[in-house]
Amino acid sequence: CGIVGILGKQSAVPIIIEALRRLEYRGYDSAGVATINNHHIDKRRASGKLDNLAKVLENNALSGNTGIGHTRWATHGAPTEHNAHPHATDRVAVVHNGIIENHEELKKELIELGQVFNSETDSETIVQLVDYHLKQGKTPKEAAHATLKRLEGAYAIAMIFACDENMMIGARHGAPLVVGFGEDEMYLGSDSLAVAPMTRKIAYMPDGVWTVLSRKGAEFFDMDGQTVECPVQTTALMA
Ligand code: GLU
Repeated sequence: CGIVGILGKQSAVPIIIEALRRLEYRGYDSAGVATINNHHIDKRRASGKLDNLAKVLENNALSGNTGIGHTRWATHGAPTEHNAHPHATDRVAVVHNGIIENHEELKKELIELGQVFNSETDSETIVQLVDYHLKQGKTPKEAAHATLKRLEGAYAIAMIFACDENMMIGARHGAPLVVGFGEDEMYLGSDSLAVAPMTRKIAYMPDGVWTVLSRKGAEFFDMDGQTVECPVQTTALMA
């Protein structure tokens, strides 16, 4: 139900957890974080409160300056640890808010193509579809675009890739997502509250738009892959 993403200059997890706390008001049943470290994706997840996730992280720390976090409000699959986001393969990690309406059709197709599922969520079809395209030799940007074109339903998504810890991809269709601009840092969040302490410079993504973030900025695209202008606003909000 809440999304945070960071391309940062320091350890991402503590900042992500604080940002997720500011999204607690939305309600959730489980939570998780994933980072990229030396081309390796690692994740920690827990059912229940963010304090449970914080305890998991105390016992088993997670480093990396590039990361995504999520608070889940389960729609498909029980609110267990293995259904909590992020969902990941060796190549890509994804957090998702919303519902992928055609998940059954996609899952069947992907299993036939040899993808192995690890959860009962609709959301995992996103990560498996991106992973499949990456294995076919597509770049992260191409794989994300090919995936987004197949998704039906409502979504806000953040993705990170093992092959490039200097990029992050976000997309929105029927669920909100904002991009935050820092000093050689970039952020994604479900709303401006999530990124408020990090930056006042925010772009509210229009519906049906996806974005490719580097540490220097963001490019925005429509579903045909055409560039879209997305104005950066300075919010009054400061936490
Ligand atoms: N439909 C997804 C799931 O059940 C995402 C739910 C959410 O928005 O948190 O995992």
